[in-house]
Amino acid sequence: MKRVLITGAAGFLGSHLADRFIAEGYHVIGMDNLLTGSLDNIAHLFPNRYFEFYYHDVTKFVHVPDELDYILHFASPASPIDYLKMPIQTLKVGALGTHNLLGLAKAKNARILVASTSEVYGDPLEHPQSENYWGNVNPVGPRGVYDEAKRFLEAITMAYHNFHGVDTRIVRIFNTYGPRMRVEDGRALPAFFSQAIRGEGLTVFGDGSQTRSFCYVDDMVEGIYRLLHSDYHYPVNIGNPDEVSILDFAREVLQLVNNPRAHIVYKPLPADDPKIRQPDITKAREILGWEPKIPRSQGMALTYEYFKKVVTPA
Ligand code: UDP
Repeated sequence: MKRVLITGAAGFLGSHLADRFIAEGYHVIGMDNLLTGSLDNIAHLFPNRYFEFYYHDVTKFVHVPDELDYILHFASPASPIDYLKMPIQTLKVGALGTHNLLGLAKAKNARILVASTSEVYGDPLEHPQSENYWGNVNPVGPRGVYDEAKRFLEAITMAYHNFHGVDTRIVRIFNTYGPRMRVEDGRALPAFFSQAIRGEGLTVFGDGSQTRSFCYVDDMVEGIYRLLHSDYHYPVNIGNPDEVSILDFAREVLQLVNNPRAHIVYKPLPADDPKIRQPDITKAREILGWEPKIPRSQGMALTYEYFKKVVTPA
């Protein structure tokens, strides 16, 4: 039985990955310090004899007994509000945490896949963003702590690959959504759903003309799974190119939830908020034979079912 370590296993993506690897017949070791993750996301896995959980902060030395075949490094605060609240932890988990896990991969002779982000492109001057674009990041802005930690993550991962011959993969994750997103994490989708269900104002930042491209979590997990099993070491974008303005996105949520008290309110645009974002997924199509399958209408309906359960109407 193959053994896989997933850091950030109690988080949104980490918990969906844990489910997938359990379903594929792996022994999964989940690791999380529960800074932004929640045991609710993995409670259903605890009775499984092939699932183990380590409560641990990966910025400290990481010890896992016995062999490991794969490591997936997904631990990190991932919403802009979180990096504002936890700037140092965000930098440490991307930098020191990645260093520890690369060291573990080297010691165990394990393949490691690290989670990077579309934020390495910053407020992009090229559109859509292909892996060849080097980005437009403000290192000292509010998002710098996340963006630069993830850029360091990519650099040190390539260095371990080139210098130590560690078998590495780098995924650049674009906006992803689905069940288990934290209600209060401040990102557009959970904010809009909870506001619509409670009959409050949906807080659109700026004039809402900024765009994002949202990928349903099952598509994301499939892309990551394929990348892990490929032999490609350079970064690969995984995301859904279907781009939408934030205002139109808020309108879609209003229509879906259909609460007559809900409406749109405008709030100031946060500093350094990227104006446009859309993945160029040519590489993923060619190398992994992957593309997203779930249209936003379907993914949003599935996500709404989740938020109905976890948000109490006002
Ligand atoms: N946003 C918004 N209202 C909110 C939260 C976010 O209008 O309550 C906007 C935010 O300014 C950004 C977009 O929605 O332009 C996506 O933000 P999110 O935090 O979901 O992720 P990002 O892609 O910026 O990391």
